[in-house]
Amino acid sequence: MRAARRARLGALLAEQGVDALLVSALPNIRYLTGFSGSNALLLITGETTTLLTDFRYATQVKTEVDPAVEVVIAPASLWSELWRILGAGPRIASVAFETAHLLHHEAQRFLAPGSEGARWRWVPVEDLVEGLRQSKDATEVAEIRAAIAIAEQALEAILPRVQVGMTELAVAGELERALRVAGSEGFPFETIVASGPRSALPHARASTRAIARGDLLLIDFGAIHQGYCADITRTFVVGAPPTDRQREIYTLVRESNGSASALVRQGMRGRDADALARDYIERAGFGEAFGHSLGHGIGLEVHEAPRLAKTAEAPLPSGAVVTIEPGVYLEGWGGVRIEDDVLLGPEGTLVLTTFPRDLVQL
Ligand code: ZN
Ligand code: ZN
Repeated sequence: MRAARRARLGALLAEQGVDALLVSALPNIRYLTGFSGSNALLLITGETTTLLTDFRYATQVKTEVDPAVEVVIAPASLWSELWRILGAGPRIASVAFETAHLLHHEAQRFLAPGSEGARWRWVPVEDLVEGLRQSKDATEVAEIRAAIAIAEQALEAILPRVQVGMTELAVAGELERALRVAGSEGFPFETIVASGPRSALPHARASTRAIARGDLLLIDFGAIHQGYCADITRTFVVGAPPTDRQREIYTLVRESNGSASALVRQGMRGRDADALARDYIERAGFGEAFGHSLGHGIGLEVHEAPRLAKTAEAPLPSGAVVTIEPGVYLEGWGGVRIEDDVLLGPEGTLVLTTFPRDLVQL
């Protein structure tokens, strides 16, 4: 499976007329080799794949990386080893590098005149591996589903404990503990718990604010399984039945979420997918209150290609797993977001998140 990914990449390199690709983004390295450590460079040519890492990962690579990948444990700098390998192997003249994933001082090791790496011709590329990563294979979909199951199990476990007077941070703490207990390897992003008027901040950090009776409570969180992320948002009301206004806004967001999930398809441009929910919210007169894009791909990273946004011209590829997360945010009052993860399959779209979407009073 990873060998097939590397072969596809090799074909892309041949198309671009370069001899090799230097992969420096860790999620891309994981995608191509299975290696999950924090320090590595990967060199891919048409025939060979070489992973450079350091002593801390000497044991780990043996279990994670398939035997077709040559592993080099660098005694000192990964870069010095890279120059050695590039110089020793079959003749390599040109090397592509990932412009979005190198620091300036790293790139200067080969771009600066007179630098050690300046012996080779360097070709900037963008989104080469990311492009492949957009379409998930069956194994990847299974990992994402497992992450979703962990996330949903954790949310279900903590909801009965949420009550008026608890701080947002305490709710986040309970949820993060439950996520760990349910098997999450970590948190794909900082858990968002936003109550009352703070729920109108689409990217609020959990704060010391205590939840008041009748507050909206927006929880946006995720889980990680085998490196793959889930990303879910649900909004609740705490300690009192929902008001008419809360019910009205909630219903609008739920219906726009439901109709977008039902209509989004592979092959659709990202901007047309975005419009599925946006037009719905605009028609109700709340267009100004939905200020972010509809969704994003999820996988080894929680925000990856493709984008479902007003400016996204690219078609959504088959096999992409994307979020559908419309929201309405009214400053000073509060906000509602409902976020699901959906698979854009060749036979249609499948909503992977199963957590109920009804407005629930905690
Ligand atoms: Zn989210
Ligand atoms: Zn999201």
